[in-house]
Amino acid sequence: MDIDEDTQKLAENIILRNAVDYNGRARLDSVISKILGSRPQIKSNIKDVIPKIKEILEQINSLSIERQRELLLQKCPSYFDAKKVVEKNESVLPPLINANIGKVVTRFPPEPNGYPHIGHAKAAVIDEEYAKMYSGKLILRFDDTNPLNEKIEYYDAILEGLSWLNIKPDIIKNTSDDINLLHYYGRKLINKGSAYICLCDQTTIHDLRSKGIPCQCRIHTDKTLENSDKIFNGYYHKNEAIIRFKGKMDSDNTAMRDPTLFRIIENTHPKLGDKIFLWPTYDFAAPIEDSLDGVTHAFRTKEYELRNELYRQILTILDLRIPEVIEFSRLEFEGLPVSKRKLKPLIEEKLVEGWADPRLPTLMGLKRRGFTPDAIRRFVLSLGITLSETKPSIEVLEAFNRKIIDSKSKRLLFIDEPFKLTIKNANRKKVLFKNHPSIEMGSREIDVNNVVFISSKDAEKLKNGMEIRLIELYNIKVSTIDMAKKEGLVEYTDDILKENIQKIQWVSELDMVKYTILKPNKLFIGDKLNPNSLEVLEGFAESYVNTLSKGTMVQFIRVGFCCIEDTKSAILTHK
Ligand SMILES: [Zn+2]
Repeated sequence: MDIDEDTQKLAENIILRNAVDYNGRARLDSVISKILGSRPQIKSNIKDVIPKIKEILEQINSLSIERQRELLLQKCPSYFDAKKVVEKNESVLPPLINANIGKVVTRFPPEPNGYPHIGHAKAAVIDEEYAKMYSGKLILRFDDTNPLNEKIEYYDAILEGLSWLNIKPDIIKNTSDDINLLHYYGRKLINKGSAYICLCDQTTIHDLRSKGIPCQCRIHTDKTLENSDKIFNGYYHKNEAIIRFKGKMDSDNTAMRDPTLFRIIENTHPKLGDKIFLWPTYDFAAPIEDSLDGVTHAFRTKEYELRNELYRQILTILDLRIPEVIEFSRLEFEGLPVSKRKLKPLIEEKLVEGWADPRLPTLMGLKRRGFTPDAIRRFVLSLGITLSETKPSIEVLEAFNRKIIDSKSKRLLFIDEPFKLTIKNANRKKVLFKNHPSIEMGSREIDVNNVVFISSKDAEKLKNGMEIRLIELYNIKVSTIDMAKKEGLVEYTDDILKENIQKIQWVSELDMVKYTILKPNKLFIGDKLNPNSLEVLEGFAESYVNTLSKGTMVQFIRVGFCCIEDTKSAILTHK
């Protein structure tokens, strides 16, 4: 019989991937279990489907590996994106312009208004790598000039995140340390006629900006100095006055239409308390701080592109040195937004567990899920300084991580939805289980009698008379399977390793604990929260898990790499 077109395509893709993974030779058993995994409905006529799959497999195996790669590249290009960047594994940061060894100063300027995420990691890694590349300095500067949003908690979280990423700034400072200096330069700009006090209400400001028309405050400058004294002395309250840059109201670049340089915020500042009420915007503070801090190369994400003209003009008018400004694209993963606008409601409505939820792209979340700082660094460097706005797939980060943790993760047994197998003619025995298939990591002993548990998903595939192998144990032949009762009877056959029988994992009745694996999925599908963003796999693990401490990486066979959470649960990092 023939199989339907979709199944045929699926089979071809899986076989091609498998062939490329294994030096040109796809293996029937692993291919079939993958196909069944994606398309359980064909289980019922698997006997008819297998010959067809075998036919495709033989045809693909007969091709050269180069041809297989070519075909896979056509059908599934993303496979190579992940593979390629991991194999290259090198920094692709281009040299900087106007950079001299020992003289380069970069800065990472986060606002302490939230928990650091993968986007911060990208900026911080690039800033640090360039400082290292030129034996220069990295400044960590908390851009804390909006007391509405900033909290000590966030300064600490950023420090902790950087320390986890192994990023060591040479200088740590706050923009708020320089608030008097920023006020000084603000007054200077006003005195030079390049800034003015605007008393218009927000709607008028917005309206005139969009039309490109100047307001009365800009036109009638006779009161500017008087109002300037008033605004610096605390005469005005919130929304009554702002200091605006005298740009070009009809500029094509809307960022030049008299942007705000200072606004009044009467909230308590986490570092300065209630002393200060007139706060510079990022537009004003960033160029001045960069220039005075000696920053030679200022990296910013592409969304600031329009503001570069303003950055340079402010420094030019104030006779301050202008750093090189370099843009890079902001980093976020498909389905994993980093914006607080999207993430904060999830936390407030308790749709996720907090900022360390393993579904989130926060550094805390990624750490808890089992991503290593080294993988994040290599991944960021593999992206380089691109300006393209495409979102990379998290699979690329996963590929870097897998390469690092594979050799460090013990292989353990876990089964979900337990199904009880009673084995006739089985002797009680102790099985020596290697902790890693290829690396010397010792072994552990598992005590087995005549009862083991397997996953119900595996049990569903069993048919009377079928022979299967319990991984590292022995072969059994199925007698009866009762899916309703979740138990079955099998018979011990022999110990011989056989090529073409299915191998399934199990846990021993004498050596098991109740165990949960949390499986994070994409948080968003399109713009909607994925209702299935966290799957919970409940079952049994071997009792060895009780000896593992939080943060240990393991690989549960056929489930994936996991990060141990506690003695009762782990989080699936990735396959
Ligand atoms: Zn005005």
